[in-house]
Amino acid sequence: MTHTVRWNLHENEKINSKEIQEAAGFLRNGMTVAFPTETVYGLGADATNEEAVAKIFEAKGRPSDNPLIAHVATKKQLTDLVDNLPEFAEKLIDAFSPGPITFVLPSNGTCAKNVTTGLPTIGVRIPDHPIALELLKEADIPVAAPSANISGKPSPTTADHVWVDLNEKINGLIDGGSTGVGLESTVIDCTTELPIILRPGGITKEQIEAVVGTVLVDPVLATGLGKPKAPGMKYTHYAPEVPLWLIEGSVDKIQSVIDQELTKGNKVGVMASDETALLLQSDQVKQLGSRDNLAEIANNLYDVLRSFKNGDTDLIICEVFPETGIGQAIMNRLQKAAVKHIE
Ligand code: AMP
Ligand code: MG
Repeated sequence: MTHTVRWNLHENEKINSKEIQEAAGFLRNGMTVAFPTETVYGLGADATNEEAVAKIFEAKGRPSDNPLIAHVATKKQLTDLVDNLPEFAEKLIDAFSPGPITFVLPSNGTCAKNVTTGLPTIGVRIPDHPIALELLKEADIPVAAPSANISGKPSPTTADHVWVDLNEKINGLIDGGSTGVGLESTVIDCTTELPIILRPGGITKEQIEAVVGTVLVDPVLATGLGKPKAPGMKYTHYAPEVPLWLIEGSVDKIQSVIDQELTKGNKVGVMASDETALLLQSDQVKQLGSRDNLAEIANNLYDVLRSFKNGDTDLIICEVFPETGIGQAIMNRLQKAAVKHIE
């Protein structure tokens, strides 16, 4: 068991450098520190230290063939980790970094081999969060950081989510309040002639197209068939405690599935947009935000998924959302979280 130090920064107007310095010292000394980013909370360790990186896999119970994203504070630190930077990748970095996008590039071997899990490529990003950036600058090392949750569960969007999953398994946690985007970064492969989206996320396909023209999408994302190029995409993910069902169709159709399950004596939780939620009746109906504001739905998604508890709820029913903009990332996560999809 490890004692977990918790630093509270969210109530401070300015970032208290004493706490950041302490956390950065932990990272430099091979310890693990969870910290807020603009996407979700990350669990960080020195990316150049194999032993430190191993602690991340152990704390999360993460499969050893799922590579980690290296987090850095500047473009210079990013290019220091890669062999060669194609022109389109540089354009994307200049357009969206710091921001919720991870670039898969040829690795130059600076990071420990368990960061890339033996791949010739490395995923790198510059997070757009004042605490994350300050921590990375202060530590002055690349920091490997997957989401700070137990593998398979929804990613953490608050420090309390991290605490529930990882207290006594990690060395430190910086509480910086709720994260902004609420879903993970977009992962984009920049090792081929044209960029390929391996995981939809905070930066949308439309935004990327506006900068580089054509962008491809890993066909596995659309079909669910074959081997995804981002190893992590093959695993069950984001699963709440109780089974999640996705229902496509009218409010009446969703209500009839709810009624069927209620009749069987099941306790049915519902999560839906504000507009749909107001029309549905069940034991618990939780609102994700307005259908007209998919960013709000993205932001609330994991918190609401985590709020349904075994014992109180037997199954969760959720509507589907349009796959435009951030809607692509929302539906990608919901499809991976769900055990059943009724069309
Ligand atoms: P997480 O940090 O848990 O949100 O997961 C990071 C995602 O990025 C996973 O889906 C990984 O498989 C993917 N990823 C990280 N590095 C690479 C890489 N070098 N090549 C392809 N995918 C990667
Ligand atoms: Mg994750």
